[in-house]
Amino acid sequence: MDMQRVFVNEPKLDGNERKYLNECIDSGWISFEGPFVKRFEEGMAQLTNRKYGISVSNGSVALDTSVMALDLGPNDEVIMPTFTIISCAAAVVRVGAKPILVDSDPFTWNMKVEDIEAKITKRTKAIMVVHIYGLPVEMDKITELAKKYNLHIIEDAAEMHGQTYNGKPCGSFGNISTFSFYPNKHITCGEGGMLVTNDEALAERCKLIRNLFFQQGKRYVHEELGYNFRMTNLQAAVGCAQLERIEDTVEKKRHIGHLYTELLKDVQGIQLPVSKKEYADNIYWVYGIVLDDELNIDAKYMMENLSAKGIGTRGFFWCIHEQPVFKRMNLFVGEKYPVAERLARKGFYLPSGITLADEQIKYVVEQLKVCLSNAMK
Ligand SMILES: *Cc1c(COP(=O)(O)O)cnc(C)c1O
Repeated sequence: MDMQRVFVNEPKLDGNERKYLNECIDSGWISFEGPFVKRFEEGMAQLTNRKYGISVSNGSVALDTSVMALDLGPNDEVIMPTFTIISCAAAVVRVGAKPILVDSDPFTWNMKVEDIEAKITKRTKAIMVVHIYGLPVEMDKITELAKKYNLHIIEDAAEMHGQTYNGKPCGSFGNISTFSFYPNKHITCGEGGMLVTNDEALAERCKLIRNLFFQQGKRYVHEELGYNFRMTNLQAAVGCAQLERIEDTVEKKRHIGHLYTELLKDVQGIQLPVSKKEYADNIYWVYGIVLDDELNIDAKYMMENLSAKGIGTRGFFWCIHEQPVFKRMNLFVGEKYPVAERLARKGFYLPSGITLADEQIKYVVEQLKVCLSNAMK
C-alpha cells in the first residue's frame, strides 16, 4: 500500500453511466436537445421537492444565472460568507452588485448567522447561503431574516446533494437554489450545474439566460443578452445515472466520515468536523480538519508532508476578502474576519471520495498521526 496514491477524490461511474452514454451515441442525441437533459432536470427537482429544475454547464454559472435572474445589479448588496468559493462573490461582482461578507462559525465552518442582521442595509437584496463541507446552514434563522427584511435567498447547495435540514432537502430553501456536478460532488456529470426553484417566472428567466435569450416563436430576436450555459445530453446522461444512487453515495460518505472520526477522535492537535447538529447529521462532502494553533504549523506544511506519503489533500477555501483580484478592485479594504482567516490557513481536507476503501482511510490516519507527531517535536 505504501507508495500507492490515495487520491483526494475519485468519482465512481460503475452504474448506468456507460449504458446511458451509449444511448446518447446510438441515438445521436449529444447536445442540449436530448431526452436526458429534461430527465435530469426533473430528477433534481424531485430530489429537492421543487417544481422546476434548470440545468446549466457548471455550478459557478448556476450562481451567475441566479444573480441575473433576480435582477441584482449596481447599488444592490448581497450578504454571503467570506469563507466560500470565489464563484459566489464573482457572480455578484460581475453584475455590479456588492458582496457583504460574514465571518464563519468556528465549529460548523458555515457563515455565522448571528452576524447577518447587523449587515443588513437599505441596499441589501439577498442573502447568498452556502452550505460548507457537509453541515447545512441554520436555515430557520435565514428564512426568518429574509421574511423580516424582504430579502431573496440564493442557496448554494453545491456540496449538499441528498442532505437535509430539519428533514427538508437542501436545495429547497432558496428563492433559487443551485447545485454543481463537478467530479468531487455527490452527483457528478464531469462538469455541470443546476438551478431549482418553485417560482415559474424565475424558472423562465433562468432558461432564457442559459440559452442566449432565444425566444419561442421569434428565435433570433433577442430582448436581452443571455449566455450559452447549456448542459449537454452526454453530461445529463451521466447525471441521471449518478442520481439513481444518491442514497448509497450519501451513506458511503457518512461511513467515511464516521470512520475518520472514530480513528482520529483521540488525536491531539486537530479539530474534527462536527458530526451532528439538532437539524442535520453531517454528510461529509469532504472530511476537513483544522490544526490547533499550538502546533505552530499551517495546513500547507501538513499537506506537503502527506503528499510525500502519496496522500492527496486539498486546502480549505481562501477567504473572499483576501483575494488579490478583489483587493485590486478596492473591495473589502481593511475588513477582517478572524475565524475564516484562521480556517483558510489551518484547515485542509483528507481524501474523501466514495471509492475509498477502509484500509486507505486507516493508512491516511496512520500517516497523518506520524506527520502530526513530527510537527509536535
Ligand atoms: C463546487 C462548488 C461550486 C462551483 O461549482 P463548479 O461546478 O465547479 O463551477 C460552487 N459553490 C460551492 C459551494 C462549491 O462547492
